[in-house]
Amino acid sequence: MTAADLAPRILEGDRRALARAITLVESGRADHRAQAAELLDTLAGVGRQALRIGLSGTPGVGKSTFIEAFGLRLTGQGLRVAVLAVDPSSARSGGSILGDKTRMEQLSRDPNAFIRPSPSQTHLGGVARRTREAVSLCEAAQFDVVLIETVGVGQSETLVAEMVDLFVLLMAPGGGDELQGVKRGIMEMADIILVNKADGDLKPAAMRTVADYAGALHLLRKRPQDPEGFPKALPVSALSQDGLDKAWEEMTALADWRRAQGHFETRRAEQARHWFEAEVREGLLARLREDPQIRAQMQALGTAVAEGDSAPAAAAARMLALLRD
Ligand code: GDP
Repeated sequence: MTAADLAPRILEGDRRALARAITLVESGRADHRAQAAELLDTLAGVGRQALRIGLSGTPGVGKSTFIEAFGLRLTGQGLRVAVLAVDPSSARSGGSILGDKTRMEQLSRDPNAFIRPSPSQTHLGGVARRTREAVSLCEAAQFDVVLIETVGVGQSETLVAEMVDLFVLLMAPGGGDELQGVKRGIMEMADIILVNKADGDLKPAAMRTVADYAGALHLLRKRPQDPEGFPKALPVSALSQDGLDKAWEEMTALADWRRAQGHFETRRAEQARHWFEAEVREGLLARLREDPQIRAQMQALGTAVAEGDSAPAAAAARMLALLRD
């Protein structure tokens, strides 16, 4: 199947065509990249604008249980839901647990859902591009909600935050931030903190944790893209499904407010510019790596700097002068 054949099928919402297109996007082969670029260009600007939601949480917090229950609720309302995973660690471990279909068995069988695990990529830049392009493909394929799942360890959150409309942090009851392995910076990115497992014996601890985070969020500097009361913390139980409707209500309320205030479009425009610049940066670096002459010069200048024969800035200036030719 060529890229030209894939486009109309993606526009019809065909999940197999979507999966093949994402495979092209993920491929390291030059001919696949070329096909992917052509396809993305054909599809640019068509399809619907999905609500893009980043969902982060440390392993064991209940991400897959939550996505399964939450996703099924949304598909139950007639919405089409795509789940993409960003897991840079899978590049090292060679495997991915995020977005794994076996973790969300029921949702993966739902005709209105699409689940894609994280690919084994070699670097974060590659993961970023793949995810961004996969989001565009999901939108072309008429998905209403695109959930981007990530592990809550730092780098990948920053990357995901640059491509979503809302950022949701899933936490477990009890324990401080350090205990939960969540960095302060990640908390500051959150629009909504969901304290999961607010059920059974864990409920009182979960309610205390909600109050703790609500207090902590209150102390953060107010951001212009937030209405009164946001960012906020809420209890949920992915298991009993309590609080899931409320969580969705809050997400849509926030997105609606941002749309009405113009923040939504502004942010998307800023994100698009950010990714354009990132692509240019990546492209320049790729050129440095690919051209044997430039690479040799990089080596030589690097050695000169390492041995103290040249100052870093001066060596960089010489390198950049070479690129200009
Ligand atoms: P992930 O690693 O973040 O994807 O977490 P999982 O979804 O695999 O869940 C980890 C464990 O927490 C599993 O044993 C789940 O059954 C359990 N779990 C998930 N959500 C809840 C919940 O809402 N309440 C309770 N009590 N347990 C939950």
